[in-house]
Amino acid sequence: ENKPRIVVLGAGYAGMMTTKRLTQQFTEDEVEIVLVNKHNYHYQTTWLHEVAAGTINPNQSRIMIKDVINNKRVEFIQDAVVEIKKDSKKVVLENQEIDYDYLVIGLGFEKATFGIPGMEEYAFSIQDVEKSRLIREHIEYQFASYKNDPTQDHLLTFIVGGAGFTGIEFVGELAEKLPELCKKHDVDKNKVKIINIEMAPTILPGFDDDLLDYAKKSLEFRNVEFKTGTVIKEVKPDGVLIGEEKDEIKAATVVWTGGVQANRIVGNSGFELTKGKVNVDPTLRAPGHDEVFILGDCAWVMNQETGRPYPPTAQIAIQEADTCAHNIAASINGGELEEFHFDNKGTVASLGGKHAMGTIFDGHKLYGVQAKAMKNIIDDRYLFMLGGPLLVLKKGKFRPF
Ligand code: FAD
Repeated sequence: ENKPRIVVLGAGYAGMMTTKRLTQQFTEDEVEIVLVNKHNYHYQTTWLHEVAAGTINPNQSRIMIKDVINNKRVEFIQDAVVEIKKDSKKVVLENQEIDYDYLVIGLGFEKATFGIPGMEEYAFSIQDVEKSRLIREHIEYQFASYKNDPTQDHLLTFIVGGAGFTGIEFVGELAEKLPELCKKHDVDKNKVKIINIEMAPTILPGFDDDLLDYAKKSLEFRNVEFKTGTVIKEVKPDGVLIGEEKDEIKAATVVWTGGVQANRIVGNSGFELTKGKVNVDPTLRAPGHDEVFILGDCAWVMNQETGRPYPPTAQIAIQEADTCAHNIAASINGGELEEFHFDNKGTVASLGGKHAMGTIFDGHKLYGVQAKAMKNIIDDRYLFMLGGPLLVLKKGKFRPF
């Protein structure tokens, strides 16, 4: 057969939506579409802080891939990508090697440790369902361990490194979950410490001042302690060293949310990295490889207006999928490639329970239950785009009945 073969690596936001859009861009006779993912499920990365804290069941964040792709149009290969051989247009998987004419890389992020000693070994990261489930089990185990040796106060100290979007959403979940675990294990609430450590002078750098003040007060009210302007110098098996003086805080749990970089497969395959990601052109192609598109958290896409790269968000990954599918169709059928433009629909951060804050559309600010309702609508809108109303009913957050 000589139909062009499009291979999509990773079934995250970018990969799933690109696959879906490709089936809409092309008819069955025009192209072959292959989706490769390590698991047979897609997961909601934006819900992993809830999985990690134990406030939702891990299964709620998972969606079986065969339930949402068009199985007649897409060949799904469940396998792990090991290496991309861009010069021979092949992808090495754990169990086989496959060829492509066009490649879409949506392999997501991994934690960036910035060379901080011990971060790789001793800090958890909220990276995928398995790693998040491990955090959840670890947290509960600390309560059980403490009950067996109440002299070990550090078992009940929980450190979260990084006060960006993920770090703040995670401490919000902890603020809700840990009091519940205190009840369950009959532990005095005052023994529990949640400490958020951030290098920048404020939490949520880049957010509007009113919103971050609101978030800070809401979380402090629920006993979260913030240490801003504070650098983590080293992570130990039983805590962290902070600041120039390397002061020690003992803690049995350290979760790092302080930075992400492209999945290491990308750099290991010879794509040139700038601060951990590939600087793609405005049409989302890898430099020097017109047949390779890189999306989501693996790529830096420049915001032409500000001259700075867009942040790594699901909203952007999903929108990039539209541009990518269009550009693959234009490359194959002949046509103009389009540049990526982000249409900001707003950003809402959950702060645990009924608490949330953010902006929508034109920068209109939302707080509390209103923001929480909007967050659920955003989540459900994605499920609707991916799998229609049935998926919303099955996995959605907003349950009007
Ligand atoms: P991902 O969604 O991470 O998908 C990568 C996929 O690749 C996964 O399915 C994975 O299994 C697969 N994969 C990885 N390695 C391999 C391999 N070797 N072989 C095969 N498959 C592989 N963004 C927002 O816009 N709004 C939010 O509210 C928000 N909240 C967040 C909360 C948390 C806790 C986190 C961690 C992130 C949040 N983000 C949010 C950011 C957002 O989740 C990411 O930007 C987004 O997931 C990036 O999408 P992606 O498609 O690049 O990667």
